[in-house]
Amino acid sequence: MPQVVWLKRDLRLRDHQPLFQAAKQDELIILYVYEPSVMTAEDFDACHLEFINQSLTELDEALASLGAHITYRHGEVVEVLDRLHHEHRFSRIWSHEETGNAITYDRDKAVARWARANSVRWTEIAQFGVFRPLEDRDGWAKRWDEMMWESTVSRPESIDCVPTDSGSRLTSGELGLEVSTKLQAQPGGEFHAWSELETFLSDRGVNYRADMSSPVEGWRGCSRISPYLTFGNISMREVFQTTKSAVSELRARKDSGEPVDGRWFKSLSSFEGRLHWHCHFMQKLEDEPAIEFENMSRVFDGIRDDFNDDYFQAWCEGQTGYPMVDACMRCLHATGWLNFRMRAMLVSFASYHLWLDWRPTSKFLARQFLDYEPGIHYSQFQMQSGVTGINSIRIYSPAKQVTDQDPKGVFIRQWVPELEHVPDRYLPEPHTMPGLEQLEVGCVVGKDYPAPIVDHKTAYREAKDRIWSVRKTSAAKAEAKLVYEKHGSRKRPRR
Ligand SMILES: Cc1cc2nc3c(=O)[nH]c(=O)nc-3n(C[C@H](O)[C@H](O)[C@H](O)COP(=O)(O)OP(=O)(O)OC[C@H]3O[C@@H](n4cnc5c(N)ncnc54)[C@H](O)[C@@H]3O)c2cc1C
Repeated sequence: MPQVVWLKRDLRLRDHQPLFQAAKQDELIILYVYEPSVMTAEDFDACHLEFINQSLTELDEALASLGAHITYRHGEVVEVLDRLHHEHRFSRIWSHEETGNAITYDRDKAVARWARANSVRWTEIAQFGVFRPLEDRDGWAKRWDEMMWESTVSRPESIDCVPTDSGSRLTSGELGLEVSTKLQAQPGGEFHAWSELETFLSDRGVNYRADMSSPVEGWRGCSRISPYLTFGNISMREVFQTTKSAVSELRARKDSGEPVDGRWFKSLSSFEGRLHWHCHFMQKLEDEPAIEFENMSRVFDGIRDDFNDDYFQAWCEGQTGYPMVDACMRCLHATGWLNFRMRAMLVSFASYHLWLDWRPTSKFLARQFLDYEPGIHYSQFQMQSGVTGINSIRIYSPAKQVTDQDPKGVFIRQWVPELEHVPDRYLPEPHTMPGLEQLEVGCVVGKDYPAPIVDHKTAYREAKDRIWSVRKTSAAKAEAKLVYEKHGSRKRPRR
């Protein structure tokens, strides 16, 4: 009987366990479903769809060389499966496990019910170091390591597909989405995933440790593999093992007396650590799906009830009067990518300076990040907003980030052209430029570029007082213990 391989966020041929296993057994229907509930949700953007379609186009071409094809359908998965089952009477569904948002979680539960009711076996295989179900975090790091060292599987050598009406890929217009603004987004597909990883490990990554904090150097010095992990163009296991091989090779070259740039070792060790974080953060959402909506530490409920729509709008549009905040936001609109520190600063500014609740801001940035991965996203958002109760409170000064990370204004001038002729020394705070100079450089603050929407010092002090007034209470401390028990990263077991 035919079997279905249900493609989700795993759009690749290499190290695709479900496809590899299923291809050995029987004729396949390789299914991709455009789901209205997922694709019109408030965390989905046309840039995600374009990346998915680029990945599917490449995948379909590769499958064609094996005599196989993807069957495309539009609709909710249970209905699609039901119709397909009437036509083709398949006996089994294969897919990867997904740690997604509430919509995909509920959909997966509905698929499980449908499969049981129709006597169809559904085999889900993990693709990240995220464990289901997990009793507690003791021993998690060891399990992650063991999983990353498991053998990978190659591309299937042949696949027999059931002849189906293959359907077609859908555009953003057909799905009712607005056209993507991200004309400079990374292109999807396995080819680009591997190119990014290879150039990073052989050249770009040498100064990763230093480059990663800067929006200027980070562009080239970070790996840029995040969207490829999010949509599964490359497997985490392959990224991990390829990195380990690169390190071994560097070590062997060094041991044989070849000159090797010593920065590589620290850089690749930091990179490896971040691969670990990827799954560590996803595990939090896997263990507690509610963190998409609820504060991890409930004592912070209600602290940001007074939502200022004007502030939110200015932040979304990159019109806050803080050059680093505005440059970051406008860069995201066009490219869908930012380095970690600048993401953290954007969120810190929204959550502390503007005192905006993280729920609407996180949905907005989910649409801006090409690599939107719910498990990392909501955990990081809560961390950078101070509502986990267990992480240190970090309020970034946007002006200091200019001085530290972009003193020559390369990044800022690229994304905020109004500031092109503003002298470097005024870039952190253009409003401090004397009026005459503003006229001379063609940037009058309040007319050509916004005045700061809040005063940094006042907003910083108020935010710090407000967050600590909760954080220091005994209720917050008691709850922090529970959050740490559930989600804290630890090398040694607590027991
Ligand atoms: C508020 C906020 C939201 C974020 N949302 C996402 C998201 O939706 N998707 C996403 O992939 N990353 C997210 N990150 C983490 C991080 O910023 C990105 O992973 C990174 O910038 C991607 O670029 P890169 O692939 O070049 O990363 P590199 O620095 O080259 O790191 C390699 C990989 O390690 C992982 N990684 C790196 N940093 C982190 C981190 N701090 N936490 C968890 N994993 C990490 C990612 O998978 C990344 O692709 C978020 C960070 C913040 C502060």
